[in-house]
Amino acid sequence: MSRILRVNMTDLSTKFEEVPEKYRLLGGRGLTSNIVFDEVPPDCHPLGPNNKVIFAPGLVTGTSAPSSGRLSVGGKSPLTGGIKEANAGGIASQKIARLGIKAIIVEGQAQDGKFYSLKVNKDGASLVSADDIVGKGMYEADEIIWRKHPNKPGVIGIGPAGEMRLANAGVSVNDSENGPGRYAGRGGLGAVMGSKGLKAIIVDDKGGPGVSVANPELFKQEAKKLADALLTHAVTSQALPNYGTAVLINILNEAGGLPTRNFSSGRFEGAAKVSGEMINELATKVRKGAGRVAHPCHPGCVIKCSNVFPKPDGSYHVSCVEYESDWAFGPNCGIDDLDAIAELVRISNDVGLDTIEAGVTVGVAMEAGIIPFGDGQAAINLLSEVGKGTPLGRIIGNGATFTGRAFGVTRIPAVKGQAMPAYDPRPIKGIGVTYATSTMGADHTSGYTIAPEILGVGGKADPFAVNKGELSRAFQATTAFVDASGYCLFIAFAILDIASGFEGMVNSVNAMYGTDWTGDDVVKIGQQIIKTERTFNERAGFTKEHDRVPEFMRLEKLPPHNVVFDVSDEELDAVYAF
Ligand code: SF4
Repeated sequence: MSRILRVNMTDLSTKFEEVPEKYRLLGGRGLTSNIVFDEVPPDCHPLGPNNKVIFAPGLVTGTSAPSSGRLSVGGKSPLTGGIKEANAGGIASQKIARLGIKAIIVEGQAQDGKFYSLKVNKDGASLVSADDIVGKGMYEADEIIWRKHPNKPGVIGIGPAGEMRLANAGVSVNDSENGPGRYAGRGGLGAVMGSKGLKAIIVDDKGGPGVSVANPELFKQEAKKLADALLTHAVTSQALPNYGTAVLINILNEAGGLPTRNFSSGRFEGAAKVSGEMINELATKVRKGAGRVAHPCHPGCVIKCSNVFPKPDGSYHVSCVEYESDWAFGPNCGIDDLDAIAELVRISNDVGLDTIEAGVTVGVAMEAGIIPFGDGQAAINLLSEVGKGTPLGRIIGNGATFTGRAFGVTRIPAVKGQAMPAYDPRPIKGIGVTYATSTMGADHTSGYTIAPEILGVGGKADPFAVNKGELSRAFQATTAFVDASGYCLFIAFAILDIASGFEGMVNSVNAMYGTDWTGDDVVKIGQQIIKTERTFNERAGFTKEHDRVPEFMRLEKLPPHNVVFDVSDEELDAVYAF
């Protein structure tokens, strides 16, 4: 029987509650967004006492289903001012689920200005002083926690950026090697944790009750169907394990959609030097040592898109250099040096920043002339300011929109205050529709139309065609369900093309809960989650005028295709006419 753990930071109390019936069939994003909707006043200050931060494993997390260990983190975003769900891999989510906990709701604010750690194990939950890790980066904090606690606990934590309540502070989750690089990065939920006085959640599932499955035989059979699809599809069985998500660098460069030097070109002359192929070459052949590809971010992932990127001498540098981080600090900043990029990722993991927002912020700072494009060392110096808490560092740590305003930049690639990911919407219109209309601000994972538009997965769509409202809507709804399930979104590559894989995804959830959901139900459930999120956003003051890409993308032609973003406002407004 699973429970909800409610943590009150004001009086430092914890209590377990029964799961209300209306939440029984919700998990992950479905659960965090509904709890935010039910309990957080939409007009509250994101860093004030009335916001809450919620942690929820997905519907099948904690089971043996493949690649199903995602943790959703939800709250009102300090970056966008709207609802936020960001999810991460790492080891904590499976442990929370195996302790029989459906969600952890953190509310109130510590009254003494101090930071606390929440310890959760089979015997219960308690708040203890975080004096041993406060002020420390996540590498050191994770290490101290593992040294002090048996059983290699899951650690959900914030770095100095979260302690300083900076709007680009993410939430770190440790991986099997206790690296802190699995981030629920987007939207500043680390700052919300910081505002509550919560430095870390330490989860030890030893002796926990585990998860219960209504029909174990059926579950096994359906999870296997999904695993078989993942181990068959070329993207999930070959491209991602060998080259990681950075396999996309060369592909997007070829397509002319790789945002370069703060979204001023769609091609980067140094793309090959920072590509997934180059990462593989350096990590497994040239440098060897600690380098690794096909690295899972949590036990039970069969895709294994992660890597360990080594220093030139072969020693450990960072895990992992994935596409968005690689692009954000690489092509987007005109930097073609993987060692500089790896260091920028390591700083972000340590200080506690979302790498997409951080890279776009550095690009905007370059556009402002603070440092030159292409200068990796200058970028490292600039990002290091965040951890020091200098005035410049605090500006950078508040994200691209804030930094652009501070320095009078008009070309800020962001929607609803959140920086755009690694696909320029001008030559790839569908992803632009997703960026514009997502409840989360610019977010590729909200509706990854890149699959049909660029990769030819799940059918083929012309990237230049402007009638992409329906495509984006369908992707956004299905994605909301996957985000609720606890499955990693990367299963989508296989289940879009292999029908038995899609059945395995849906029916593994059915087998666990005794439901009989169909493919149509998946869409309806996803739409319902998005509707809840949009209603929250409307009450927080968002209108359809917020569902727009920045003006410069409608005015400035992007080379090499020399196109603007020309999807009509009517097409954008029709996305959520359900
Ligand atoms: S596919 Fe990659 S991101 Fe997804 S669970 Fe596996 S290692 Fe983590």
